[in-house]
Amino acid sequence: MQRLTRRSFGRGLGALAAAAPAAVPRFAIAQAQPRVVIVGGGAGGATVASYLKRSAPNIHVTLIERNAQFTTCFFSNLYIGGFRTLESLTHSYVELKSRGINVINDVVVDVDTARKNVTLISGVRIPYDRLVLSPGIDMRFDTIDGYTRDAAQTMPHAWRGGEQTVLLKRQLEEMPDGGVVIMAAPPNPFRCPPGPYERACMIAHFLKTRKPRSKLIIFDPKRAISKQAVFLDAFKKYYPGIIEFHLSNEIDDFRVVSVDAATRTVVTKSGSRVRANVANIVPAQKAGGIAYRAGCVEGDWCPIVPETFQSTLAPDVFVIGDSAVATDMPKSAFSANSQGKVVANHLAHTLAEKEIFPARVRNTCWSLLAPNDSAKVGANYVVGTGSNGRKMLMPTDSFVSQPDDEASERRENYEESLGWYSGMTMDMFGTPA
Ligand SMILES: Cc1cc2nc3c(=O)[nH]c(=O)nc-3n(C[C@H](O)[C@H](O)[C@H](O)COP(=O)(O)OP(=O)(O)OC[C@H]3O[C@@H](n4cnc5c(N)ncnc54)[C@H](O)[C@@H]3O)c2cc1C
Repeated sequence: MQRLTRRSFGRGLGALAAAAPAAVPRFAIAQAQPRVVIVGGGAGGATVASYLKRSAPNIHVTLIERNAQFTTCFFSNLYIGGFRTLESLTHSYVELKSRGINVINDVVVDVDTARKNVTLISGVRIPYDRLVLSPGIDMRFDTIDGYTRDAAQTMPHAWRGGEQTVLLKRQLEEMPDGGVVIMAAPPNPFRCPPGPYERACMIAHFLKTRKPRSKLIIFDPKRAISKQAVFLDAFKKYYPGIIEFHLSNEIDDFRVVSVDAATRTVVTKSGSRVRANVANIVPAQKAGGIAYRAGCVEGDWCPIVPETFQSTLAPDVFVIGDSAVATDMPKSAFSANSQGKVVANHLAHTLAEKEIFPARVRNTCWSLLAPNDSAKVGANYVVGTGSNGRKMLMPTDSFVSQPDDEASERRENYEESLGWYSGMTMDMFGTPA
């Protein structure tokens, strides 16, 4: 991994559409209006809908999303830290509808890949020629003793946008000064690798400015984390006496093994037992439930063909975003958006004979450490052959912030992240953030 320089970052941005994918079969469906159904109107799904309708207006695009409004997980840590309002993170599908996309706010409960249709909770069946799944994640409630869906109402994971994030913030606001906040970080792989540590900074910023006698204890099952040097530096520089970080090592395993929601008590494998005022428990994760119904899951995630994101398990189904095994690509909104563009382009080409633009997928994750201090990590990804002989997405031109970066560079990173959020949500919903 490269140290971040402005030159290396610029080079990455410019390379968005540059690598050659494997040969794509050229055939068009023999019907006037091919039907593409997309399940999940988040970072991946909304991007596919928006790009596909724009590039191939004759394709009938249906986007099925559980919620009428989408509150982003990305930037939700900034809401916890007091840097964003919830309203600024909440978006509607009105503009996508006005562009001719058939947006249905409902839940898909089943997928029949043989008959090529999806079933809504009402029993209505919707046929497709191609199906795109971008359902995000589900929590693995079977991994921490006592951590159930009900317990999450007392000890929020806040790892999905909206309700859970609001609950965590409210608990922080209501706790006494001098209280204890516990965060259980998830094991790999999980949505947004730097997310727990940006959240730690944002919770600590809130405590420092509003409840300075309080403490945040982090229990982590991992031995190393994303942007580790930068986060450790930020914890020491901005939040001494507030953040207590327990990363696992060969002697101590700090995975949270059980919780008691009634007393908000957390127990780790290494034997620590702490009672908290606020407990933010982020468990292990898996592909969104509907991917299981579609028969696309192996283990906890969905294997895909890395050039096209086609499922290797179900015909005419594409899986993008957090549910997919995009090998080295982190599970992020940036990744999901970039994968969504690849799939939209592939579908426009194969269903409507539009030109194919060879695309290189890319990721960048920014993390706000303190006011005007943001660190970033990222890379481009190209299809290569892994050590197991399988094709996979591999990073090139990777970069990462360093503890001794200039303050001006960190401030620029922050401004860049604001620009990314606006561009990203414009891409997804067609309206400015
Ligand atoms: C705290 C936090 C901070 C983050 N910060 C960043 C960041 O700074 N940058 C970044 O790039 N990423 C960030 N992320 C990660 C990012 O939010 C996810 O990686 C991204 O949203 C994944 O996109 P997706 O399309 O796979 O899933 P989602 O965006 O979650 O969309 C899935 C959608 O599918 C819908 N759905 C699921 N099943 C069904 C069904 N059966 N029927 C109908 N609808 C269904 C859901 O309601 C949901 O709206 C962060 C995540 C967290 C938790």
